[in-house]
Amino acid sequence: MPTTRILTGITTSGTPHLGNYAGALRPAIAASQRADAESFYFLADYHALIKTGGDPARVHRSTLEIAATWLAAGLDTERVWFYRQSDIPEIPELTWLLTCVASKGLLNRAHAYKAAVDKNLAEGEDPDAGVNMGLFMYPVLMAADILMFKAHSVPVGRDQIQHIEMARDIAARFNHLYGEHFVLPEAAIDESVATLPGLDGRKMSKSYDNTIPLFSSSAELKKLIASIVTDSRAPGEPKDPEGSALFELYQAFSTPEQTEAMRAAFAGGIAWGEAKQALFEQIDTAVAPMRERYQALIAQPELIEARLKEGAAKARSIATPFLAELRRAVGLRNLGSAIEQRGGEKAKAAAQPQFKQYREGDGRFYFKLVAADGSLLLQSVGFASPKEAGQTIARLKQGAAPSEAADGLLLDGRPLGVLAGGATLAAVQDALARLAG
Ligand code: AMP
Repeated sequence: MPTTRILTGITTSGTPHLGNYAGALRPAIAASQRADAESFYFLADYHALIKTGGDPARVHRSTLEIAATWLAAGLDTERVWFYRQSDIPEIPELTWLLTCVASKGLLNRAHAYKAAVDKNLAEGEDPDAGVNMGLFMYPVLMAADILMFKAHSVPVGRDQIQHIEMARDIAARFNHLYGEHFVLPEAAIDESVATLPGLDGRKMSKSYDNTIPLFSSSAELKKLIASIVTDSRAPGEPKDPEGSALFELYQAFSTPEQTEAMRAAFAGGIAWGEAKQALFEQIDTAVAPMRERYQALIAQPELIEARLKEGAAKARSIATPFLAELRRAVGLRNLGSAIEQRGGEKAKAAAQPQFKQYREGDGRFYFKLVAADGSLLLQSVGFASPKEAGQTIARLKQGAAPSEAADGLLLDGRPLGVLAGGATLAAVQDALARLAG
């Protein structure tokens, strides 16, 4: 069964709240249990420095809290790759390699940077006032996080789609210059995962100071839920679930049947106090077992540290050899071996056929097979996703043989593409044999 690599990072800049849990951790943990998925989940502590400059204690505390949350929520660290970003020195090194192929114009268009500039302009400030290079370069660091582990799928909110597209752009540019090293990732938007509202009805977010911490005590949870903004309808008056923060929070922690029962209770004029009590019980029941595990974990930070160290070793067993491959690709090479194999090394590199992957204006994903002398051998059909194109390339590299049909080439009975003018199936097979060899 082909596996999909999924990657998610959570910035370690605050205390995890119900929105982080329902919007990111809970679906990520469910996905990690799929037989066809390989999951990479990390604590994005380099990212945290962008927003928390000058507050080291907050980053430290948040890293512990978020690590303990993942574990308390049931993440099986044997099954997944669970690590702290700053334990992988290959990530900042890859960030530099990518920085050198990322165009500044692309980064100028990043939403977060543009929003900061627009705000400055509106206030009559210098466009870049208060903008650090971390904010500007954040999409490149994020591209390194994703590309390092050849993730196919990155579950994100809609506001992050642009960053995944940037990662793809940067990867495609690198692949074009240095050969096919990176998988082009895709954003995965899960329509069933709602954005949770906070106490004031806006998106629950640290920035709005309207969060319900996931591991509040029962008493705190009750108090916070009591402060959720509602309208002034009296008990007995029908209430509208649409746009009600209370209803949306209830839904995120309930079965469809429970949600329908609450919808009926709204129509029947349930009192706000009663609805809040029902919400409290629903969330408290869901969180209580995790809360206990969380408290036990947070009391033993050295055990969490040890888990993260194990996770880093596991992640680096992928990152270290991959970065070595990339260093070679860009020309950061051992001089001793270059002198030994002078000429031969160059000729060998030049003598390899290559796959080149790209996206066309029709939105589909294509590849070409180019012979060692640079001539085009095969042009693929369009694939719906970069993953499908990549898997087809992988099949060819592993020795799967294309066959000739009336209107083109087939692989495993499915359309593969067409031979380039002047190319023969024998030449394609020869190139594939050399790649497999
Ligand atoms: P952040 O703390 O902003 O880095 O967010 C970490 C993860 O939690 C991201 O995947 C967000 O999409 C998710 N998240 C944050 N706030 C909410 C919310 N209010 N509702 C749903 N998901 C959220």
